[in-house]
Amino acid sequence: MSGDEKKRMLPVEEALKQILALVRPLDLESAPILDALNRVLGEEIRAEYDIPPFANSAMDGYAVLASDTAGASQEAPATLRIIGNVAAGYTSDLVVTSGTAVRIMTGAPVPAGADAVVRFEDTDEGRRLQGEMDAGRERTEIAVYVPAEPRLNVREAGEDVRAGEVVLAAGAVLRSQEIGLLASLGRPIVQVHRKPRVAILATGDELLEITEPMRPGKIRNSNEYSNAALVQLYGGVPVRLGIARDNVEDLKGKLRAGLDQHVDMFITSAGVSVGDYDVVKEVLGSMGQMNFWQVRMKPGKPLAFGTIEGVPLIGLPGNPVSAMVSFEQFVRPAMRVMQGRIALQKQTVTVTLDEDISNKSGRRHFTRAIVTERDGAYYATTTGEQGSGILTSMVRANALVVIPEDVRHVAKGESATAQMLDWPEIE
Ligand code: AMP
Ligand code: MG
Repeated sequence: MSGDEKKRMLPVEEALKQILALVRPLDLESAPILDALNRVLGEEIRAEYDIPPFANSAMDGYAVLASDTAGASQEAPATLRIIGNVAAGYTSDLVVTSGTAVRIMTGAPVPAGADAVVRFEDTDEGRRLQGEMDAGRERTEIAVYVPAEPRLNVREAGEDVRAGEVVLAAGAVLRSQEIGLLASLGRPIVQVHRKPRVAILATGDELLEITEPMRPGKIRNSNEYSNAALVQLYGGVPVRLGIARDNVEDLKGKLRAGLDQHVDMFITSAGVSVGDYDVVKEVLGSMGQMNFWQVRMKPGKPLAFGTIEGVPLIGLPGNPVSAMVSFEQFVRPAMRVMQGRIALQKQTVTVTLDEDISNKSGRRHFTRAIVTERDGAYYATTTGEQGSGILTSMVRANALVVIPEDVRHVAKGESATAQMLDWPEIE
């Protein structure tokens, strides 16, 4: 490649910057919390009450006055009179006074007067649990073998969350634990950013639907499926527009169908490379403001980007691996912005190469690789043949090893950066 050619090519970061400049977080909507998983919260969540709402026992045992157990031991237990029983889910009017105890279950409210819970294992009921004594249902007394500090095995009201506290800020990504916290606060519905509806359009006369019989000269439309799966994986809703044939009417009609469904973004595949019959370029150019780029990356050099009637459109290359790698670098971050996410970068690790990788392209080379961990360090081997049509090179990969534009060779034993395909972005 000549120096001029390199200069004309758009650096990956520049292409991404231009794409991100045209996307915005989508508006908020109310969602039941189970539909809010992995989405971005659009409101501040304040606790209306303490969690736990009342002091309760962390153990099955006896609620006591800690001072009654001072100096207790196996040889000289503190003997207390049992005045009642309290189970989880119930309250009681029992009051523990000096010399008495209440049998209590985990999660049950600590009765008035008591300031500690001694677990069964530290009483003579513990022996019964181990089968050494008869069942103690009728017992009236309990022998405590250990001294209890005040608050032992007591979960204080509000020790997890205090009433009035902000527990989740707007912008938080809701994971399973946040969903659980919302439930514990009695919030069935929250405000989250809307999921992007992403139209997927495959183009090409050579494409067969995946259920059609094979025919000479034709291939299956795999991109629609890998793209739709990526859209789902990254929190969007795929709107499949099917295959547009390489003619103006069909392509226009399919794009129109997407616009009519009020999609937030279009993803097309194929028809944007230099040698291509110009239908895709012509139609996209006539329907909106489009740029047809040569990005300085491999695979994935051709890329179209712009808007169709104000809706962002990313035109991915047709080769299955190029389409997926370009999706990762450009579509995924754009979708994440729409979802209100801040973290846009895939996690990376530094890897030691287990084999040589050369890069004569002068472009950033996203090498499909298998990254493994040995003794606390990461190592990478390539998935073999790296052709941009070889989808199995992606199937075997869990990472993309990134060889910089101007690096022609990285030898076995040297290090490189790997984007981990299956790891989520972190905030
Ligand atoms: P193009 O970008 O049109 O030059 O296409 C590059 C390569 O990708 C060609 O071999 C196409 O047949 C192939 N291709 C295009 N669209 C798809 C698709 N939807 N699924 C699988 N392969 C495709
Ligand atoms: Mg084509």
